[in-house]
Amino acid sequence: MKRWLGIGVTLSVMLVGAPAQGQTTSLVGVIDFHVHSGPDSRPRSVSDLEVARIAKRAGMRGLVFKNHFTMTADRAWLAMQEVSGVEIFGGVALNHAVGGLNAEAVRQLVAFSGGRGKVVWLPTFDAEFWMTRAGDPGKFVPVMRDGRPDPALGEIFDLIAQHDLVLAMGHSSPEEVLALIPEARRRGVRQILVTHGLGQQPSTEQVAAMVAQDAIIELVWLAVGNGEFTLADYAAAIREHGAGHFLLSSDLGQEMSPLHTDGLVAFMNGLRAEGISDEDIDLMIRRNPARLLGLDP
Ligand SMILES: [Zn+2]
Repeated sequence: MKRWLGIGVTLSVMLVGAPAQGQTTSLVGVIDFHVHSGPDSRPRSVSDLEVARIAKRAGMRGLVFKNHFTMTADRAWLAMQEVSGVEIFGGVALNHAVGGLNAEAVRQLVAFSGGRGKVVWLPTFDAEFWMTRAGDPGKFVPVMRDGRPDPALGEIFDLIAQHDLVLAMGHSSPEEVLALIPEARRRGVRQILVTHGLGQQPSTEQVAAMVAQDAIIELVWLAVGNGEFTLADYAAAIREHGAGHFLLSSDLGQEMSPLHTDGLVAFMNGLRAEGISDEDIDLMIRRNPARLLGLDP
């Protein structure tokens, strides 16, 4: 559990991302698929409206608001009323706060006016794998039952398929992800995102099995900022499996962490310094997220 590592690490890693001389990094057309912002029940660096304004100023194309405890499709629509020209989407994370694996939470996500509900995250902070790893003795929301996908996921996967939503794997273990992908595919789910996909420490073979089933692996800047991964780790994974299978997002918004836009620029510069091509970066930070969201890639 390294997510509480100090700010000093974050700031020093930020400097790694300094652009090469004379080179500027543009966020035009970029989509941040993993945006934390307030209001929230944990401290956030910016509000929904602030991050939307910052994204617009940077020329970004879109944002996905992620909250662990409440649905964000409504907030996404409200932010778009105030900040035109940025595509903002929301979703719901199936933690205890919305009743766990509760299909009604997904039905309401898509029924809300504005139509900005697009992502369903399996349990995150309430995931068995996450809580067990963190030594949290609380009650988790299991996604597997007797070695099989929990029956409650059937209706949820059907709704995701019916409304062409993105199924994000939350903080499920690599083994769970590999058990859930075939069931989701069988029920017609098209877009699958493995949330900060290296953070659950899958083996190379497990990542290969995920991408073989056309799941997209999310790489988040936050995990570089807090020292969990290096840019070299990410670059190695991208080379191993191919940029077409990855998505880059910030996962920022924590109190005292850099702004989302600063993180994304450092991310792009850092990967470029690791030898990842601009074309591959473009694929991972613009085109793949657009495709998942049903936007013209
Ligand atoms: Zn997050």
